[in-house]
Amino acid sequence: MNAPIRSYCQIGLLVGVFSLFFTGCATQPKPEPKSPTESKFTGLRIEQGPGSLGSEPRKSPVTYLVLHHTAGSLPSSLDILQGKDPKHKVGIHYLVTDEPKPRVIRLVPEHLAAYHAGKSAWAKDVGLNQGSIGIEIINYDGNVYPYSDAQAAIIFALCDEIVRRHDIKPWNVLAHSDIAVGRKVDPGSKFPWAKLASLGIGAWPLPNEVADNLRKKPNLTPNHVRSLLSAYGYVLEPGDAGLKLGLEAFQRHFRPSKVDGLIDHESVAILEALLRRYQPAAYRAVRFKP
Ligand SMILES: [Zn+2]
Repeated sequence: MNAPIRSYCQIGLLVGVFSLFFTGCATQPKPEPKSPTESKFTGLRIEQGPGSLGSEPRKSPVTYLVLHHTAGSLPSSLDILQGKDPKHKVGIHYLVTDEPKPRVIRLVPEHLAAYHAGKSAWAKDVGLNQGSIGIEIINYDGNVYPYSDAQAAIIFALCDEIVRRHDIKPWNVLAHSDIAVGRKVDPGSKFPWAKLASLGIGAWPLPNEVADNLRKKPNLTPNHVRSLLSAYGYVLEPGDAGLKLGLEAFQRHFRPSKVDGLIDHESVAILEALLRRYQPAAYRAVRFKP
């Protein structure tokens, strides 16, 4: 059983080495057969970066896209993301720079899993390095500093390309803070999630359903809110503190005007609308629980 695996690895290595030589430094992503429709974005260029040791063979198909901010400068992030530190082995598929004309740099090819999610969980999945593509964006703190229009434009184009190619569902386009509740806060409340969703990438509630829910005065009991968050995918620690952190993560993504982890009408109205739109069976089960 071992010999054929070794041969595959050797062939893979050779193919990798040859493709490195022949693709050059700046490459256009090749059109893939899985793209359901043509992307609305054009001109996305992806530069081949220095590579990263923070990766491993991919064992499960890609179903998630996870976004991050680096909390560091381009030179320091490029250095860290090469995964050379054995105690802090990290990697990422794509890095988006913060230059006036932002660039996309590839460090880990998509057929490998990159070490970007760390201890993480979403819905029934644990350890999201496997099964995800990761994008790091240069920003010192996406909860404080807005993303520039130029940076947002190239992020949108990159997300669109990845989501189409892997057919990633809207509710599986996530923040690092969504999948590492209480541990991570990136890419932060300034990330333009609503704009991204308006382009057809990622989840967002229907405004008329949010308004409807607000009129109906949602159920604000902690148990109900915990059930809604869990049904949508958030994995929470037990107790009030766990719920507060989970709600904070939710607000950072879907109600960025106030991220305080406190239960309020607007947060619950948005959460119910999201669940109803993307997980209708789970919504009915939670909403009408006896
Ligand atoms: Zn992160």
